[in-house]
Amino acid sequence: MGIATSLAVLQPSTAAGCLAAVAGGAVGGIICDVDARSSEYARDARQGQAVAAAIVAAAIAIDLAGGYGFCTRIVERMDFDVVLGVAGIAATGYLGSRKPHRTFAHSLLALGLYCIAISLAAPTLVAPFALGFASHIVLDLLNKQPVQVLFPLKSGAFCLGICRADGTANRMLAVLGTIAAAGLLAWRIAVTAGWLA
Ligand SMILES: [Zn+2]
Repeated sequence: MGIATSLAVLQPSTAAGCLAAVAGGAVGGIICDVDARSSEYARDARQGQAVAAAIVAAAIAIDLAGGYGFCTRIVERMDFDVVLGVAGIAATGYLGSRKPHRTFAHSLLALGLYCIAISLAAPTLVAPFALGFASHIVLDLLNKQPVQVLFPLKSGAFCLGICRADGTANRMLAVLGTIAAAGLLAWRIAVTAGWLA
């Protein structure tokens, strides 16, 4: 769903833009669940993180093979900002993993900190990451465990109570998200390649 949201909103029309939308949307869409520790949620979260890592690795491999400029822009300006940005992403992720589920790691505060850090390390990934992150928060708000979006404010915790995170709705969303992401990516590749012109 993170990738689908990123592609739908950003509508990239270059290969580097498509790779950034996919990689940023994948990571943003799953990074909130670094705080999932109860066995069942943690298993789902680890699976999601493994899929996101594989997608990022594939995006890097495709970029290196095709020379589209998605990675080189980051590597070219490998300086103190990049080191600071990577450290900021790691620190925010670590802090998120130490806090209870659906609190700091699922908050606008964490989103803001990640975006500042990513803007230092890889500015092109800020928008796709933020869209992936936002899609995760919106979907989590549908279910029955409150999300503390306005962490550290306790009053900011709420949910719509429509479905359970481990139920049929979750599996349906995963299938729909995968189909939407694949369809949107095919569309953006066709636009990028000029097949629809
Ligand atoms: Zn979550």
